[in-house]
Amino acid sequence: MNFRLFDAPLREPSQFVGFAGNRIDRQSENRADDAVEKALGERSARLMLMHGGRLYLKLDDGKFDPWFEAAESQAFEVSLDGGVLLGLSESGPVLAVPAGIEPENLPETVKAIDYRSVYMQGLIDEAAAGALAQGAALLAWHASHAFCSKCGNRSEMRAGGYRRHCPACGTDHFPRTDPVAIMLTATREKCLLGRGRHFGPGMYSALAGFIEPGETIEAAVRR
Ligand SMILES: [Zn+2]
Repeated sequence: MNFRLFDAPLREPSQFVGFAGNRIDRQSENRADDAVEKALGERSARLMLMHGGRLYLKLDDGKFDPWFEAAESQAFEVSLDGGVLLGLSESGPVLAVPAGIEPENLPETVKAIDYRSVYMQGLIDEAAAGALAQGAALLAWHASHAFCSKCGNRSEMRAGGYRRHCPACGTDHFPRTDPVAIMLTATREKCLLGRGRHFGPGMYSALAGFIEPGETIEAAVRR
């Protein structure tokens, strides 16, 4: 294959992976400590509400809508202090916020659906699924990293949710990401697939595994 560095493909290969359609401008250069508060003050702000691994979706005329206005979100016992700013969409700031209300107490018009089902059933568009991945990862990190791993004191959210700061020892903590290599070993005629014990009948998958610290993508694939 003739590969030239500057012949950009129409669609990057990683765009074919699930949850990869995020189009939010992350505005990482503008993440002040009051970024969430400011974004919530904008009337165009849109929120994704999450609770216990599920996304809350409005159901209207058979269509699912993952976006709530700030005022509208109050009914779902949201913790705005625990919200994270995902960035700017074409229509305004986008946030992910933990909702306190239990799924069984939701009104008829709102459904609580686990992230995997939201994606597998195509309930929201690719851009929203990308935002869901970003928000879910950040909220899960905050939920499990409330305390400083160096001194044990409670840490505080900073930079719109992209950092936690420990006021006791001054250490900054950053969200974890988990790089994974997904690979397809192929000849012109054949390719190697795997099958998990839990897979449904006839289901096969490309091989994948976590990339370890100090390892390149290619080295992880070979291992
Ligand atoms: Zn500390």
